[in-house]
Amino acid sequence: MLFDINPKEHRRDLYDREGELKEIQDALRLGERLLILYGVRRVGKSSLLRVALRETNIPHAIVDVRRIYFEYGAVSREALYRGILEYFTRNLGLLEKAGFKARDALSRIKGIHLTELGFEVEPLAPLPSFTELLSRIDEWCRRRGLRFVMAFDEAQYLRFGGVTKYDGIIAWSIDNLPGITFILTGSEVGLFKDFLRLSDPQAPLFGRYRREILVGRFTRHQSIDFLYRGFKEVGVAATTEELEEAVDMLDGIAGWLTYYGYYRAIRGLSHREALNTVFDEGSKLVLSELTSVISLSKRRYTAILKAVASGASTWSDIKAYVIARTGRITDKRFTELLKRLVKYGYLAKKGDHYVIPDPVVEHACRLL
Ligand code: ADP
Ligand code: MG
Repeated sequence: MLFDINPKEHRRDLYDREGELKEIQDALRLGERLLILYGVRRVGKSSLLRVALRETNIPHAIVDVRRIYFEYGAVSREALYRGILEYFTRNLGLLEKAGFKARDALSRIKGIHLTELGFEVEPLAPLPSFTELLSRIDEWCRRRGLRFVMAFDEAQYLRFGGVTKYDGIIAWSIDNLPGITFILTGSEVGLFKDFLRLSDPQAPLFGRYRREILVGRFTRHQSIDFLYRGFKEVGVAATTEELEEAVDMLDGIAGWLTYYGYYRAIRGLSHREALNTVFDEGSKLVLSELTSVISLSKRRYTAILKAVASGASTWSDIKAYVIARTGRITDKRFTELLKRLVKYGYLAKKGDHYVIPDPVVEHACRLL
């Protein structure tokens, strides 16, 4: 169903993304080692990733690094292994179909064992190194003429690896494990680029060939068509004016459009109620995500976002607003905070103007 609010798993539930799917499939067919999917929150990266890997029927593991970070407070090796092993456990059948016998592939790795419930990390044994784990998988797959995809969803959180330097491990694997392809996705695009440091000669990933795919918003035409098909699929009538209004208000962000469709078609709300609910509930979601980002300088970040949401857009207008609300601030500090919000994707810079690129985020920031 198009209006299912979970990330999509199946091609039939995914609207379009033909071009992106084909690119991912091409890259895998060519044996490329590093694939990067960029895009703002809720645009459909996780859905695209899941559908692509299922469609290509390729052995893989997908780890939601953001979830690991929030669950464990850091992205230790052990936490990451748990993520990978959980994925294997939950998808044994799917992986077998792709020719990957997880039990066999991992059977000789010490520190990881198999119980009735699935794979587990042995609590007391020393953990295998990540390079060892990947080497085993690489070896197992290559012997059988298979490629393995290690996918890190919201990979910018890998920067919380503590002593484990994931960028170095990924770079090493790209150089040494020809049977493994990494797919990394990132919503906080600036942070993601900071983490990868692809153009920094001192950084491990510098100079590695990679394919970058930007997962963009739907065009206006696609957005309307998406809603149209979604309503048609569940037999709910909606007028063209309503669809257009929804798209005018929510833009081409797949996630918000899906929520609107869901509230209306599945929960039975009217057009108006559904739109209001997307903004109300969406704002709560946005604010809870935002809280963790701005916690270190909350008053000032809040003032900046509120300034932009209320129409200030130039550096000096925003700064004046922030000073009026929170007192003096140096130019340097102010610019730092502003840049950080751009890095996290809460602000975007267009020429000399700062904007909030997501209408629901903008709404949420007005409430700050
Ligand atoms: P991201 O990983 O970029 O944050 P998700 O893949 O989680 O985005 O998608 C956000 C929401 O939008 C989910 O409810 C998902 O089902 C829906 N969605 C995203 N892209 C599509 C698409 N192409 N077709 C149908 N639904 C989509
Ligand atoms: Mg996602």
